[in-house]
Amino acid sequence: MNPVGKPGKAGSLMAVEVALARLLEMAEASTIGERERLPLAQVEGRILADDLVSTLDLPPWPNSAMDGYALRVADWTGEPLMVSQKIFAGQVPEPLKPGTCARIFTGAPVPAGADCVEMQENAEVQADERVRFIEAMAPGQNIRPQGQETTVGELVLPAGTRLGPIEQGLAASLGCAELNVVRKVRVAVLSTGDELIEPGQPLGPGQIYNSNRVLLCSWLQRLGCEVIDAGILPDDLAATRARLGELKDVDLILSTGGVSVGEADFLGIALREEGELTLWKLAIKPGKPLTFGHFRGVPVIGLPGNPASTLVTFALLARPYLLRRQGVKEVEPLKFQVPAGFDWPKAGNRREYLRGRLENGRAIIYKNQSSGVLRSATWADGLVEVLEDRTLIEGDDVNFIPLSEVLS
Ligand code: AMP
Ligand code: MG
Repeated sequence: MNPVGKPGKAGSLMAVEVALARLLEMAEASTIGERERLPLAQVEGRILADDLVSTLDLPPWPNSAMDGYALRVADWTGEPLMVSQKIFAGQVPEPLKPGTCARIFTGAPVPAGADCVEMQENAEVQADERVRFIEAMAPGQNIRPQGQETTVGELVLPAGTRLGPIEQGLAASLGCAELNVVRKVRVAVLSTGDELIEPGQPLGPGQIYNSNRVLLCSWLQRLGCEVIDAGILPDDLAATRARLGELKDVDLILSTGGVSVGEADFLGIALREEGELTLWKLAIKPGKPLTFGHFRGVPVIGLPGNPASTLVTFALLARPYLLRRQGVKEVEPLKFQVPAGFDWPKAGNRREYLRGRLENGRAIIYKNQSSGVLRSATWADGLVEVLEDRTLIEGDDVNFIPLSEVLS
């Protein structure tokens, strides 16, 4: 799972991959079964519900990859050949007359009897309109064979594929006008904290603006989720219970804040009373406290409230969980190794996800890695993974996870 090094010991903390494996197991056990049929133009960002199997050979017939001349390799002697037909894309050719060639254009079917296409740049049209080919040709040259892309019965896209422009293009090439996709996951987003108010209101003493709400709502939409914005929850048990109870017909309640062992952990209390609660202390930084539980049967994930912690734990844990609920197999972001452009002299007992960017092929990191600093991530292009119990000197390899990998 990690190209660089082995996960280290983290004492009583749970390793990131252990937490992820548990979350994915739970997601697997509650994948969304409902599906809908949508026009192809509307499936972008959705998850394919059924295997897409080709009902066509693609291309359906051998066709020319070039503008040029179709001929039989064996007919080439160096002497000019007569042009016996002209074939444009969209036309149906006659079989090639032996000892002749056919003028042919890109995408046009290669006539029966021809076994190569010579590009027009290697052909000389003579005064009598016959054509001389300069070089000998190889069979199959410049011919796109039938079924080169896919053949009838071939699995083209497996169920669980995330559909984007490329998959839409491929489905269109197979003639699909509609696809079955998984019903969107419905996620309720809750921001907890007495200190929070929404942007647009004057800031009172002790208050801060709620940044996690819009961050998560936008991100979830990118992931193809249906978002139920459940607003700000005060640090109050009765209000917590009441608000949770109002959230009907959702597949996940995603909250931020109130999970840091503190006295204000009313979400935890409500879950304990009317469901179940697992509190994890993760070997992750930023991050660490993460709640997973159920409220009246609805799964709940509680992310830590600090904006950079919300970002990292959502990217690495909640995002894969949500994708797996929709049946996606590949849920982990691509990461690759790059040399560190910094020293890391002090090993930590948590795996660090530093907000960094690539400069001259090396990963450099934002000057302030506080979990409260979201600007570290607007500056960054990615997360630089430094494993627990690990020191680095400049030039040592680190894993780099592009933010673009996790943001959609
Ligand atoms: P908590 O997990 O509730 O102890 O919150 C940890 C830190 O994150 C505190 O400084 C909170 O004020 C801050 N925080 C919690 N929720 C949000 C939010 N939705 N937007 C911005 N900051 C938050
Ligand atoms: Mg709080």
